[in-house]
Amino acid sequence: MKIICIGRNYIDHAKELNNPVPKVPVFFMKPDTALIQKHNPFFYPEFSKDIHYETELVIKISKNGRHIEERFANKYYDEIGIGLDLTARDLQSECKKKGLPWEIAKAFDNSAPVGSFKKISEFEDLNNINFSLKVNGEQRQAGNSSDMIFNFNHIISYLSQFITLKLGDLIFTGTPVGVGPIKIDDHFEAFIENEKMLDLKVK
Ligand code: MG
Repeated sequence: MKIICIGRNYIDHAKELNNPVPKVPVFFMKPDTALIQKHNPFFYPEFSKDIHYETELVIKISKNGRHIEERFANKYYDEIGIGLDLTARDLQSECKKKGLPWEIAKAFDNSAPVGSFKKISEFEDLNNINFSLKVNGEQRQAGNSSDMIFNFNHIISYLSQFITLKLGDLIFTGTPVGVGPIKIDDHFEAFIENEKMLDLKVK
């Protein structure tokens, strides 16, 4: 499986990092070795001094497809969960300065903790999903899927023009405002509505 991540999909977050608001989705990928299995901690790596959390809704692809029309895109995913797009901001800033790719800052081992998933049928309205992040019990991020610049169906349709989507692939759909650094001993809890979907300790 593969993990595809959308960048700059919330206007307030694009602005907090001084990035332009995109006209088409910006995407990058993480390998399957970026996944953290449930209940395992994240071990802070030595190569970065400034790893940030980005809380994102994650859609799980349920059917192989390419060149998917937007009106049929809802048939290609059946579950939504929440994940953290962990980003080595110091390494990413160097890459951006030099105009280089971001993989070193985004695709490292364990950079994609993912929590539990809920069936699409359990949501009343996919364009109105509240999600949030608490760090050490204190709320740090809160978003709603209605604030995405590109919605789930548009993302699937767009990505599938370039990359075949396969059963089990995960798509991180972008983070709202409020990203920040993680520290050793931090405790992360991410929620969809009021339900805790992800629990992660940093060591
Ligand atoms: Mg992100």
